[in-house]
Amino acid sequence: VFNFSAGPAVLPRDVLLTVQEELVDWHGSGMCVMEMSHRGREFTQIIHEAEADLRKLLNIPSNYRVLFMQGGAHFQFSMLPLNLSREGDTVDYVNTGHWSKIAIKEARRFANVHIAASGEDSHFSSIPAEAGWQRSANAAYLHYCSNETIGGVEFPFIPQSAFGGNEVPLICDMSSNILSRPVDVSKFGLIYAGAQKNIGPSGLTLVIVREDLLGHARPSTPTMLDYSVHADAESLYNTPPTFGIYVAGLVFKWLLEQGGLAAVEQINIEKAALLYEAIDASNGFYTCPVEKPFRSRMNVPFMLHDDALDDAFLGDAKAAGLLQLKGHRSVGGMRASIYNAMPLEGVQVLTSFMREFARTHG
Ligand code: PLP
Repeated sequence: VFNFSAGPAVLPRDVLLTVQEELVDWHGSGMCVMEMSHRGREFTQIIHEAEADLRKLLNIPSNYRVLFMQGGAHFQFSMLPLNLSREGDTVDYVNTGHWSKIAIKEARRFANVHIAASGEDSHFSSIPAEAGWQRSANAAYLHYCSNETIGGVEFPFIPQSAFGGNEVPLICDMSSNILSRPVDVSKFGLIYAGAQKNIGPSGLTLVIVREDLLGHARPSTPTMLDYSVHADAESLYNTPPTFGIYVAGLVFKWLLEQGGLAAVEQINIEKAALLYEAIDASNGFYTCPVEKPFRSRMNVPFMLHDDALDDAFLGDAKAAGLLQLKGHRSVGGMRASIYNAMPLEGVQVLTSFMREFARTHG
């Protein structure tokens, strides 16, 4: 079967087989990773290797810290203003859809949120051109979501961090497209991502943060929400999600074996092109609401010309081994998530199925 879930999402088969093989006895230790002390020799090796491999993959500069955290991307929505702004500060947010809005709503509890740009006028089918953004003169940071998992809108560019002669920390929610292409980490103040799409099991959250941004949390910040606490303790302030870190480490090794992110990006481009082509060539049987330059390589939303066919489409797809294609409840229609672990073959089978369904129901 091929599983198109938006998250928790499919993991590389080779990784799952390794997990199976190592499950009851990790490397001759006699222990499962879930049974190990997070401060023991074995787990220390696992977390160090995971970080080193991630640094290699993303070419993370030495003045950035990698934090393995919990709480999902949602915790980051409140940690950001608590750690990176002071009471009364203005913070700039770009609104490109569902996840931007949730980040904005949470930030409003702690700071003056200014919307520097919004895709609302285009019903979030595009990203406003950066030249027209209205940024604040004194924002503590600029936040955006590089890939809107539900709307299927992805940034084809990295926004400027510099504004009005100041260097403004650029903060990015990369939950659903991290590790899908090379990215210049040095352009960012902080990158965060829930693990359950391109990294590993849910329960783990990845944060990559520039060192100079640590140590500025508001005095009232709960200890667990202070980035510097986690950085000082090397992600072991409390018991971390050990099994998730272990699986993420295996995913990082798998990505390196694929040839790293430049090679992975090429396959992702090919997969996305194949799927969008099938949609666009269907003479309106299928449509994608997102404007071409902003179409996500990871999450492909599409509608059938008659939503009365939705159930038949999903039922037939399931029978053909194509799972979890139902669109998010807020937008309806279909969505195929084609993260790194989705092989090209999965998209080939899906597009053949779509053509056949259109032929028999058109
Ligand atoms: N941001 C994006 C882009 C997402 O896709 C998601 C979840 O799907 C979230 C944030 C929320 O993540 P979590 O459930 O880990 O808090």
